[in-house]
Amino acid sequence: MSAQASDEPTRGPDRGIGLGGGLLRGLATTARTLLRPAHTAEYPDVQPELPPRSRGVIALLQENCTVCMLCARECPDWCIYIDSHKETLPAVGGGRARQRNVLDRFAIDFSLCMYCGICIEVCPFDALFWSPEFEYAEFDILDLVHEKERLSGWLASVPPPPQLDQGAEESKEVAASARRIPADPEQSPPVAPESQPSTEPTGLRLHPRQPPGPTSTQPPTEPPTQPPLTGGSS
Ligand code: SF4
Ligand code: SF4
Repeated sequence: MSAQASDEPTRGPDRGIGLGGGLLRGLATTARTLLRPAHTAEYPDVQPELPPRSRGVIALLQENCTVCMLCARECPDWCIYIDSHKETLPAVGGGRARQRNVLDRFAIDFSLCMYCGICIEVCPFDALFWSPEFEYAEFDILDLVHEKERLSGWLASVPPPPQLDQGAEESKEVAASARRIPADPEQSPPVAPESQPSTEPTGLRLHPRQPPGPTSTQPPTEPPTQPPLTGGSS
């Protein structure tokens, strides 16, 4: 017959190892596995070490929500429910009265949510955040609808934003707040930024790009001595 037919016995289970050889290989695999440490998660006795950016539950910062409805419109599962009403603010300083949205209800149904994160990505006002909390299983599925009070409660476990990478562009918020600092050249003469102690309010430094270097911990140097303004002859 052909050469292909003569090769067939060397493949598959009939290639000559025999029952004893296969048994020995299986026992060797069992012995190797016996010596490996187990990777059993002992939850709930031992809490798992989750990455800080885990998608556990969605937290709501009500003060930032303007009821723009973007998150509810973009949610692929339609599991965000928002109700609001309009409130008229009285005119100030001769202007006209203004209207603003007041949030009445903000709820997320976590029995439908698929944790895609689209609502958090599209929110233009930073009102939604991921929290790594995941222990909110319920016996009644209706209890998985979290109203705004419960969503706000998850804020306590939201991790702080990560630092910018070294050499990254300054964030727009920090750049905009730096432009708002009034510059009065007569009251504050220009000094080299490296040698001037920082008088900037702490709230403006949201994300310092560089860790504080040795210059920030140095004691202040001697104040520059001004030469006398009197017109002496010497
Ligand atoms: S994570 Fe996705 S599915 Fe869940 S509420 Fe947000 S947009 Fe909807
Ligand atoms: S997108 Fe943000 S600001 Fe707009 S309704 Fe949703 S949470 Fe509120």
